[in-house]
Amino acid sequence: MNSPLSTALISRSQNSSLSTLETPPRTYLDNRVTKSHRGNKQTRSQRARTRLQTKEHLATLAGEIHEPELADKLRRCHSRLSVLTCGRHIARIIPNFTCEFRLCPDCSRRRSRKLQNKYLPAMRAFLRNHRVTPVHLVLTQTHQPETRKQSAKRIKDAFTKLQRRSFWKEFFKGGTWSLEYTKDKNGLHHTHLHIIGFRRKFFDIELLRSEWLAVTGDSHVFNLKPIQDIAAGLCEVVKYVSKPLDIRKFGAADLKEFIGLKNMRMFGTFGEFRDFCKGFDPSDNDVAAVGDLESLARDLAEGCACPKCAAPLFDLRLSSDELLRFYEGIESSPPGKVGTS
Ligand SMILES: [Zn+2]
Ligand SMILES: [Zn+2]
Repeated sequence: MNSPLSTALISRSQNSSLSTLETPPRTYLDNRVTKSHRGNKQTRSQRARTRLQTKEHLATLAGEIHEPELADKLRRCHSRLSVLTCGRHIARIIPNFTCEFRLCPDCSRRRSRKLQNKYLPAMRAFLRNHRVTPVHLVLTQTHQPETRKQSAKRIKDAFTKLQRRSFWKEFFKGGTWSLEYTKDKNGLHHTHLHIIGFRRKFFDIELLRSEWLAVTGDSHVFNLKPIQDIAAGLCEVVKYVSKPLDIRKFGAADLKEFIGLKNMRMFGTFGEFRDFCKGFDPSDNDVAAVGDLESLARDLAEGCACPKCAAPLFDLRLSSDELLRFYEGIESSPPGKVGTS
């Protein structure tokens, strides 16, 4: 709880003008928000290894809860890969099979990337056309004994009510929302709503706090910060979509509960931004500006020049373990100036 963000959460709640409220229990001030904001300093091979271990853990749990098909799909997902590479950089990876399971770390990466490719051009265009400032707002609620589904519904219902209030309409011109699930150490669900809000003008933060309290009845802890770079802001919120922070601590019951959430939406747009997205054609805009090497490399093929070093690209067929060793080889080989994604 030493980082500035969690301290901000605590001090705001303690200094709240709503002093008639009881101080929430300490577990309420979960530091999960902070943890996920920390920089990711792992190497690419370490991240790949973590994904493999996570998938194997999920597949084992799936076996335990008698979901052999899911276990099989998870083990096959991204197990064979077609890798377009110059030997030092990877221009594109095409998996043989994708399981599309919400918790699969490989599939959620793909899903995050798709969301970014879809919404970033729309956000940039929206910002060009409107006098608004993007902010990242984290709304939280009190912990209660309830299922994951009930917890998600409670916070989403509160957000729907918030959007109907004149305060919200006056200050926000729309944006996106996404859900983040965590559990506290007592096993209670802690659901956050991450919002990229397009703010029309400044407002008193205490006003927002009292509005959130009015719609939730008991919650006033949240965090609000300006977004300097919209690409980084979007990247930050989409990573929460469908990705509980530590799946490797999941038990069989957690997995079962997640399977029950199949149709729960985890990401959406609201307000004028939602209408804007409906009429927005990304092909007129700068999709490539996302800067993702993989999306830029969509048209590359064997024999083309590597976008990073211009050496000729060739195709490698690798298993997921071989890809891991390939990453390790790149990372350990001199001169070490290897681009990471
Ligand atoms: Zn998958
Ligand atoms: Zn290269």
